[in-house]
Amino acid sequence: MTPTQPSTWLDVPADHPFGIDTLPYGVFSTADDPVRRVGVRIGDLVLDAGAVAAIGRDAGLVGDGPDLAAAWQTPSLNAFLALGRPAWTAAREWLTEILRDDVHRDGVSPHLHALGDVALHLPIEVADYVDFYASEDHASNVGQIFRPDNAALPPNWKHLPIGYHGRSGTVVVSGTDVVRPTGQRKGPNDPVPVFGPSIRLDIEAELGYVVGGGTALGSRVSVDEAPDHLFGVVILNDWSARDLQAWEYVPLGPFLGKSFATSVSAWVTPLDALGAARVPLPGQSDPEVLPYLRGDAFGLDVHVEVSLNGTVVSRPEHAGMYWSPAQMLAHLTVNGASIRDGDLFGSGTISGPDRDTRGSLLELTWNGTEPLTLADGSTRGFLEDGDTVTMTAWAPGPDGARIGLGEVTGTIRPAR
Ligand code: CA
Repeated sequence: MTPTQPSTWLDVPADHPFGIDTLPYGVFSTADDPVRRVGVRIGDLVLDAGAVAAIGRDAGLVGDGPDLAAAWQTPSLNAFLALGRPAWTAAREWLTEILRDDVHRDGVSPHLHALGDVALHLPIEVADYVDFYASEDHASNVGQIFRPDNAALPPNWKHLPIGYHGRSGTVVVSGTDVVRPTGQRKGPNDPVPVFGPSIRLDIEAELGYVVGGGTALGSRVSVDEAPDHLFGVVILNDWSARDLQAWEYVPLGPFLGKSFATSVSAWVTPLDALGAARVPLPGQSDPEVLPYLRGDAFGLDVHVEVSLNGTVVSRPEHAGMYWSPAQMLAHLTVNGASIRDGDLFGSGTISGPDRDTRGSLLELTWNGTEPLTLADGSTRGFLEDGDTVTMTAWAPGPDGARIGLGEVTGTIRPAR
């Protein structure tokens, strides 16, 4: 069989992680035009998608379809997210067409910007932010570290995807500095709580799912309907102050130990780019889940790499997650809670059974007792001021291509 190789009139190598099969969305501006608008990455270029869509619209070529130019000439992806699944898929087909067929070269070329010449911004106006806890290895490790006298997994863990509501207003784009949080902690040997900068500042390597096609209050989204609302995926770093968290989290869950910052990649990879990355879940037969959590509960074969000051410290595998994003969305709405365009939910820390696949320093260093050694010879239990954490990810694409998910990076600044 000779597959039709994806091609483009642009000078993008076939093995580029941002080739024609990727086409993620972001929000950008340029020095010449500081207005924030939606961009699509191809190779090391950013397409001003709204400007190109406006050419067709203004020539009367759009017909009855949604006004993509209007949706994209806005400072976030939210207007595009509101258009829903049919428009998302049609938009991707149109983008693929104009980047493949040489007839569009003259019209499109003036609207391409070098990646190095643009500023990237937070791609969505985050509506509600929820973080789940979908990795069995992560949940087991945290249980052993935080609650050594109890069973590693809480009794509800295999019956429902556990989550908590985070703080949407402190979701920041990759590259944003993170100020070390200050707060209360009380260690086992402290007679009373201590106040000050966190001394156990950590990371959590996750995927974030970007949601659109809002629903009405009182309705549910089933597992099989979830792909109509799952627009795409970001890499997400759930910065976590373990000392603050350990003292505050019983009985209502994480609060100030998490809410100071959550970083996401600037590029949102559409679910439509991850068709070849769909994999079965590892298995949910014991116990079998309730009917509302059944259906086409696919996993995603996304490979994550975590670096600390340039040293790779972990390679978590998202394919091993126990719960599917479709199940998380079904659970999120099963009580009738509506979803809004721009909702974001995190997978929870992605950890595997081996040490070098654990997605947090808490697990990698076993609560600081087994420090990591970095390339410069220094050791880390938790993060120090000046440390930079970078997470990258990729997924398999069609015909052996790689789908790049970009990166999320952030540097720790001293407490204020
Ligand atoms: Ca988390």
